[in-house]
Amino acid sequence: MAKKDYYEVLGVPKNASEQDIKKAYRSMAKKYHPDRNKDNPEAEAKFKEVQEANEVLSDPQKRAAYDQYGHAAFENGGAGAGGFGGQGFGGFGGAGGFDFEDLGDIFGSFGSFFGGRGQQSQGPRVHRGDDLRYNLTLTLEEVAFGTEKELKYKRNGQCHTCHGSGAEPGHGTKTCDKCNGSGHIKVQQRTLFGMASGIQECDKCHGTGKIPEKECHTCHGIGLERETFTKKVRFPSGLQTGQKLIVRDCGDAGANGGIFGDLRVYITVARHDIFDRISEYDIHCEIPLKMTTAILGGEVEVPTLSGKKKIVIPEGTQNGKIFRLRNEGIKYSRSENRGDEIVEIKIETPTNLTDKQKDILREFDGSLDNKKNYKKAHSFKDKIKRFFSKFEN
Ligand SMILES: [Zn+2]
Ligand SMILES: [Zn+2]
Repeated sequence: MAKKDYYEVLGVPKNASEQDIKKAYRSMAKKYHPDRNKDNPEAEAKFKEVQEANEVLSDPQKRAAYDQYGHAAFENGGAGAGGFGGQGFGGFGGAGGFDFEDLGDIFGSFGSFFGGRGQQSQGPRVHRGDDLRYNLTLTLEEVAFGTEKELKYKRNGQCHTCHGSGAEPGHGTKTCDKCNGSGHIKVQQRTLFGMASGIQECDKCHGTGKIPEKECHTCHGIGLERETFTKKVRFPSGLQTGQKLIVRDCGDAGANGGIFGDLRVYITVARHDIFDRISEYDIHCEIPLKMTTAILGGEVEVPTLSGKKKIVIPEGTQNGKIFRLRNEGIKYSRSENRGDEIVEIKIETPTNLTDKQKDILREFDGSLDNKKNYKKAHSFKDKIKRFFSKFEN
């Protein structure tokens, strides 16, 4: 259900003064107060709505953020979460988001990560934890049909004592006294380009504008704790080396009750002993074939991803002959169809023959008629003859 506009809830115009908002809130709160509306769930819901609207509109910083981003400003993980805190700082590492006046554009791309380079900041920021990288090697079989894996890794999780708030359980938070709750402080800094004055995240509250009344004894107020995290992830079929999958909200937790970064899983598909991958969904397999089977024909067993298959070798099969096994390749990620397996015949010439075996072959060879039994070799001989006869005239 869409949330109601806070100004509408209080029945005031968008440009209402602080005084007007206060007045409107008082009369609405009185009207819907639970004490006056016993067993009236509708009034109770109204009362909650009024409370929430007042909490935002009575706070100049929150009101400014709401005016700019709407309800998204207060939703974890929404575009507004970055926008809310971001505005020119945060994306920028050590420099802390200085506003380099004329040089601003050079750094514009950094700022845009957090919702655009802004000239003025918009209030306390919501921390987003780091994205983490996970390198995963999958076998061809896993890639062929898709697989589920339990990924186990270390990350910054939320402190189990304070659930990320940084405050000792039973104690609340108070406005940061260093930045007066704005989450940032003005600083002067010498830089490569001369002195720059700018706005930096408050180091006392880490930009949140709030500090615990009493710091959590486990995390000392940061809200984070190292943890070994396990996450079951479903990997679709058809993945290829170099692809990455993003698992939302499974990266590091943000400090002070912030939001989670993402986990980026980088895929490597391991080489297979038998199969080569020749396209997204097709695989290739070389089959050594006995010379006599190639000559006389027969049946051979070939491996496929779903078991052994017999294929019929016709009499007189040549080296390099291709058999295409339909639907024996890698499964498509979005349908039940599969690619093909390409079987390539490699005729093996027998070695280590005995004298007797060689004699049999010589006798056999003598019985052949080249014109009839070795058509390719015979016609090639003709071509060579014609080619060199040109030089003899
Ligand atoms: Zn804690
Ligand atoms: Zn502060």
